[in-house]
Formats: sequence, structure tokens, C-alpha cells
Amino acid sequence: MEKKLSIGTLCVQAGYDPKNGESRQMPIIQSTTFKYEDSDAMARLFDLEDNGYFYTRLQNPTNDKVAARIAALEGGIAAMLTSSGQAANFYACFNICECGDHIVSATSIYGGTFNLLGTSLRKMGIEVTFIDQNASEEEISAAFRPNTKLLFGETLSNPGVSVLDIEKFARIAHSHGVPLIIDNTFPTPVNCRPFEWGADIVTHSTTKYMDGHGVQVGGAIVDSGNFDWEAYADKYPGLCSPDESYHGITYTKKFGKLAYITKATSQLMRDFGSIQSPQNAFYLGLGLQSLHVRMARHCESALKIAQFLEANEEVAWVNYPDLESSADHEKQQKYLPNGSCGVMCFGLKGGRERAKKFMANLNLVTIETHVADCYTCILHPASHTHRQMSDEQLAEAGVSPDLIRFSVGLEDANDLIADIAQAIEASK
Ligand SMILES: *Cc1c(COP(=O)(O)O)cnc(C)c1O
Repeated sequence: MEKKLSIGTLCVQAGYDPKNGESRQMPIIQSTTFKYEDSDAMARLFDLEDNGYFYTRLQNPTNDKVAARIAALEGGIAAMLTSSGQAANFYACFNICECGDHIVSATSIYGGTFNLLGTSLRKMGIEVTFIDQNASEEEISAAFRPNTKLLFGETLSNPGVSVLDIEKFARIAHSHGVPLIIDNTFPTPVNCRPFEWGADIVTHSTTKYMDGHGVQVGGAIVDSGNFDWEAYADKYPGLCSPDESYHGITYTKKFGKLAYITKATSQLMRDFGSIQSPQNAFYLGLGLQSLHVRMARHCESALKIAQFLEANEEVAWVNYPDLESSADHEKQQKYLPNGSCGVMCFGLKGGRERAKKFMANLNLVTIETHVADCYTCILHPASHTHRQMSDEQLAEAGVSPDLIRFSVGLEDANDLIADIAQAIEASK
């Protein structure tokens, strides 16, 4: 039934359908455990024979409702919540990779994910090859090996806001018999649903727009149910052969299309335990209820601000895919026709020093490491996250010394433009 409803209705209602006399807003089940009348009922839960709740590390009713809402928004068949976006990307990969395996990933991804794949997974014996997402299909294909288990990219990269050609990535992944995993944090399913373009698994840092108010750190993994694990059973033994830690259950045989999320929950969450608290899940559920309204405003204001910056003589360059001048504009029109998100990058004439002066003169816009919520915020990597680096090192990392990351919140766009304009003047 939910599939036919539009995204705005799903934001408000999906995942929770109260019965007669039940609370209109979803309840927070702030409980570690659940009571059972007899021990056999409990045993069936432990054996994954029955569906039910026994311990919040594995499943919680509030979390499940919010996960169901996110699954409906993405058009997936199942989702799970995690304690952070980092945990979501870790589980999404580790659910189908183990020591000796290999991952191909776009280079233009969030720094935390770059480290996760390039440093921490490497320490666990999983190799990664980073590729330029704008390279040809042949060049990207050349990075694949017999032990490659997945292809990874971000719909809109953080911080560069490059638009990924999802259809191209899906073609490449599937021609090598591996799933495409997409981090869809910046556009959210309101602006892009990667499953419609062939992605198999989607991840989120729900800390960003989905929550939208800067109150909780969280993540989510959504499965489209479309990847045929059994067709590559030798490649994915974790899903397609018996799990001795669960009485020899084979996830694909017992759970069919739900195999991937069931394994991630019953095995990875059991063993690594990065659960989202029910209280945080509740805040996330609230955030989702206005996501469609907020995303439209973020995009509308961001385009106005990007156009203002582009027309300003003191601005050296602006990178925002919704601008016609953007190299990614064609891809934005295809994959994100209602707008990309509220994040953009730009540089001021005068480079690093000018950027610092500009930021010091802003009043409404605050300096934060965060992005993508209701507060307009700004970050200058050369002065903040990358401050130990010389200009040469910055260039190698793909961050120009003048690069300013600007995240447009929900304040009035004209007030923001006035603040930016006066700070540009004051920084001359
Ligand atoms: C922030 C972010 C993450 C990490 O999420 P946390 O919730 O901070 O752990 C992953 N991917 C993208 C694209 C992000 O912006």
C-alpha cells in the first residue's frame, strides 16, 4: 500500500500505524529487554524461529518503526538503524566482506568513510582500491579483482558535492557480479532514491538532514532486496552457507530477500553492538516527518545563495551542482531534478587569509564541523579540519586553500545573503 503513496505522505506516516486507542505519535520503548511468559517462547526468538523482541541491542520496537519509515522512503524492503553513519557504512561493507576480500570505492567520499575503508578495514585484511568516479567504465572495471565484493560511492560527495553517475556505477558493479552500495546522506530519499537507478544497498548518516536539527548521531542501512546473493553463492558464503553461530542457519535460504539485513542484525549487531538508542530513533522519526518540507527549502535557499555568490565579484569560484555553470549540472538534472541539497563550496579572491577574515565577520552563519541541518554553518578546511597541511599538501588532498564549505540551513535566505554580503565587504 505504501509504495503508491508519495514521498511526503511516507515521511509523515510510514512505519507506524497506530491501532484503536494507541498513541498518535510513535511511542519510545525505552527498555533494554522484554518479558515472556514461558521459556520456549524466548527460545524460539533466540533461534530466529519467531519474530519478536528480547534485547534492544538486537531489536527495539521504536527503532524498527523508524527503520521501516526509512525503508519506505528509499523504496527498499528492509532497513536497520545504527548508532552512527560510520557504523552504517562499516556494517554495510563488513556484512559481505571478510579478511582477504577487496572493495572498489570512489575516491570522492566523506573523509570518515575514506579512513574506514582505507585504514581500518585494511587492518582487518580487506583491501580497497579507490577510483575516480568520473573515469570511464573500462578504467573503473580494471580495478576489480576476483575477490572484489562490492562497489561503493556517494550520491553527492561530502564535502565536494560531486554527483555520482549511479546508473554507470550499477552497470559496472553488476557486470562484475557485486552489489552497488550508495551512501545517500546528502540528497536523502526525498531528492534521490538510488534503488531506482540500480543501486542495491543504501546507507545514511541520519545525523544530517534526516534528523535535521542537530540533536542526535545515527545511521541507517537499507536493502533493496534486488541483489541475487545465491547467484554468487561462492562469493558470499556469509549469506549463502550455514552460520554456525546460529545453529547452522543459511540466511538466504531461511530469510530470502531479507537475508542481508537479517544477517547484519543478528550477527553484526549481536557482535559489534552499535545500536541506536530508542530515544535517538524517536528524534530521528520526528525529523523524518518534516524531511520533504525541509529539503525543498534547503535547496531553494542554497540555489539563491549560490547564484548570489556566483554574481559577486569578490567570489573566485562556486561549486553547487544545481548551478547551470556546474560541471555536474547534467547529472544533477538527471538524478536530483528537484534539487541536490543545501551544501556547496566556494572560494573568495584572496585565498586562505581572506577566507578567515570573511568567517570572522559572519553573524548569523556559525563555524561548525557539522553540515546539513537547520543551522547555516561554514567550515574552512585549511583553517579547521586540514589545518596542519601546507598549501601543497592541501592540493594533494583535493582541497584548495581557499575552499569554504557552506551548508545552508532553514533561516530566511535573504537574511543569510545579507550576512554573507556584509562579511565579504568587511573582509576586503
Ligand atoms: C557525516 C557523514 C558520515 C558519517 O556519519 P556519522 O553519523 O557522523 O558517523 C558518512 N557519510 C557521509 C556522506 C556523511 O556526511
